[in-house]
Amino acid sequence: MSQETLLTRPLKIEDLLQRNIYDVDEDPHIEIPRGSEQEGLPKEALVYLCPAGCYTRIGDEILFSYEGCVECGLCRIISPPDKIRWEYPKSGRGVQYRFT
Ligand code: SF4
Repeated sequence: MSQETLLTRPLKIEDLLQRNIYDVDEDPHIEIPRGSEQEGLPKEALVYLCPAGCYTRIGDEILFSYEGCVECGLCRIISPPDKIRWEYPKSGRGVQYRFT
């Protein structure tokens, strides 16, 4: 592939995420409440803004899966602190970025 093609080809976030390696811990590093306890969470924003697609809307509730998290911290910033438990994964676990 020529350099010009590499530079002009549109980048898709899915392509970039597939390059990462994930060492998933069995203990979730992020937790959100379920059911009526989700009142006050910015659900729409979480579903549409999480770059890794970790949030899915099912009816009035959002479901969360931490396995593909890229640890950007967005959900921690936009959620009320009493509605989310957010920590980095244990040392050595979680996402390992690949830039090539
Ligand atoms: S830290 Fe970023 S990638 Fe991980 S769940 Fe929150 S918004 Fe998604």
